Amino acid sequence: MGYVPGRFDRDGAEHMNQIAKTVFAPVYPVIAKQIIERCRISRGRCLDVGSGPGSLGIALAQASDLTVTLLDSSVEMLALARENIREAGLSDRLSLLSGDVHNIPLPARSVDVAVSRGSIFFWEDLPRAFSEIHRVLAPGGKTYVGGGFGTAELRDAVLVAMTKENPDWKNFRDRNLGPENRERVAGVLADLGLPHRLVSDDSGFWVVMEKER
Ligand code: SAM
Repeated sequence: MGYVPGRFDRDGAEHMNQIAKTVFAPVYPVIAKQIIERCRISRGRCLDVGSGPGSLGIALAQASDLTVTLLDSSVEMLALARENIREAGLSDRLSLLSGDVHNIPLPARSVDVAVSRGSIFFWEDLPRAFSEIHRVLAPGGKTYVGGGFGTAELRDAVLVAMTKENPDWKNFRDRNLGPENRERVAGVLADLGLPHRLVSDDSGFWVVMEKER
């Protein structure tokens, strides 16, 4: 069966891992670099929310001195992430955390940068999820939360490959990154009164926040 978005059981996790290591593989180092540049952060504590098999967190650790916690609600994803961390030789700087974005099992003000790619579209209660992310941010802490592929070239290459697996994938992508969803997220952040900046360009759609000091 082709890739089924939103399926995070064992088969879904294995498929996500396989895609992350092939079709999506060039995307993560590009996004990691964009995070480091746009958030102006290269050390401290990073939380990768909905990390899946860990590719973004691993790319971030490889490109910086950040220590990274991979948070995911799927134990199957975290089992694969554990293996990927070991293969990358980064067990000293990456750790796993089983939990839900709606109830992040971390103390307040314990994270310097919260990143998330491709997970927000599955969160059931966006106001609660963003409140939780904001709670765990340290004063001056940043977010880079959203979805995308880094560049137009990578986005188009991923589309070609993913459409072979799932002819409906373009609709799924466009729904997630399209104007309706962007406005919905912007509305949630405005209602919460959380100062933020929305990046919407060839790199994707990203919520950039800086917590008040
Ligand atoms: N961030 C990874 C990447 O870009 O390769 C994985 C993206 S995958 C499409 C979405 C991930 O979000 C899955 O691993 C899923 O288990 C996780 N997820 C979905 N809802 C979640 C929630 N409420 N709390 C934590 N993780 C969640």
